Amino acid sequence: MRFRRLFPLPASPQDKGAQAECSEQDHGQPQRQGRVIPGFRNVGRRTGRRSFPVFGKGLDAQVALYAIAVWTIYIVPFLACNPEITLSGLNCDRRFQICFRKILAHLPCDILMHINGTYVRHGDLDIHELFTPVDITDKVRAKLPGVNDNLLRIQAAISGKAEPNIDFSLSCQKCVFWQYCSRNLPKPNVFDLPGTGSAFSYKHKLAIYKDGDIVFSQLRGRPELRERQILSVEGVLDGKTILRKDKIRAFLRTLTYPIYFLDYEGINPPIPPYDGTRPHHQTPFQYSLHWIEREGGELHHAEFLGNPEVSPLRDLAEQLCRDIPKDVCVIVYNDTYEKPATRQLAELFPDLADHLLNICDHIKDLMIPFKNLDYYLPAMMGSYSIKYVLPALYPDDPELNYHNLTDVHKGTEASAAFMHMAGMPMEEREELRKNMLKYCCLDTYAMVKVWQKLIEISEN
Ligand code: SF4
Repeated sequence: MRFRRLFPLPASPQDKGAQAECSEQDHGQPQRQGRVIPGFRNVGRRTGRRSFPVFGKGLDAQVALYAIAVWTIYIVPFLACNPEITLSGLNCDRRFQICFRKILAHLPCDILMHINGTYVRHGDLDIHELFTPVDITDKVRAKLPGVNDNLLRIQAAISGKAEPNIDFSLSCQKCVFWQYCSRNLPKPNVFDLPGTGSAFSYKHKLAIYKDGDIVFSQLRGRPELRERQILSVEGVLDGKTILRKDKIRAFLRTLTYPIYFLDYEGINPPIPPYDGTRPHHQTPFQYSLHWIEREGGELHHAEFLGNPEVSPLRDLAEQLCRDIPKDVCVIVYNDTYEKPATRQLAELFPDLADHLLNICDHIKDLMIPFKNLDYYLPAMMGSYSIKYVLPALYPDDPELNYHNLTDVHKGTEASAAFMHMAGMPMEEREELRKNMLKYCCLDTYAMVKVWQKLIEISEN
């Protein structure tokens, strides 16, 4: 939506004709028109042509927007990524292919627009600074001969009565249709094994699947499996558990009262929405905080939730400094978000930096005992994500069941809710805010319960 506001420009009759040919037939919906995009004036001057923007979500290469000109195609990938990957992704996008076929033959120039990760927003967006153009005309030209074949294949698949019978491939890795396409696989199967890193990735799972080893009983002894995958298999087949009490006690000794449990929700959009932020800037907009002053003390709670229309960062940072004193133990679950996000807040607000960095320095990661396999239950399925750990520690506890929440059940839903809140009627918005607060509150309450469980099992 924000992209549309970048180009709110009147159209000429010439543009209208071009738009009708490309958008109504090929995109199925009318497109906005515009003039030469100011940031690309150098290209416009060279080619002397006019342009209009076309918007759409990309597929394989995470292409978020195509600004397609009558004479120049501007391609803006979601992430600053490799031009080769972007081009291979475009092969799979029907809308792009159709526009490609119709106009590419006449185009003198194609431009890949990288997002400039160092751009910092101050006031209105400066798209001259936000985007870095790269001329990829030769690479696009080289792909032209395959376009018609691609279109025929895509058209045949769309118009056929039966679903195409396609086996799993590397393309399925992050496909949004994965749940649907994998619905007939027995459970659990090789794709349920934990692991996304280079040591054991989707590629390894796919290779095992292609060998015909799919269910867990077929996976024993596979040489690709690492400790976590073997544990996952043995947990399901043999009910294997791990409990290293001395390690857990050692971890618990590093936590001192008062203990604060902190969790952020955040966004990191490619277009920086607020002053002082960069593309993909970690932008927390909400937090929940539980704390206990002393052993056996009461559990307290505080929370913050901003509004999307104005930057929530200053208010969040100020309240955080009021809610968390200096030099106290701050527990998070997986410190890879809270630590860098708090450091970025400190960079943004030098007057609060001392306090924010103090909070950062006292962060302890509750995930460690589970990541180190000091405590492992079969229901964790080889994972140390809190979404697996919590139900494994507290099975069938409705108070701790994320499925019992309304509207927001996970971080990505909280981020989407925040972004969509702006245009909502007040009543609906208030309801959503309540549900977002409940979700984030459960995140920190879950940490309290996990910490209490660690104390309980280490003492027994
Ligand atoms: S998950 Fe299904 S739709 Fe997605 S790439 Fe794989 S086969 Fe195609």
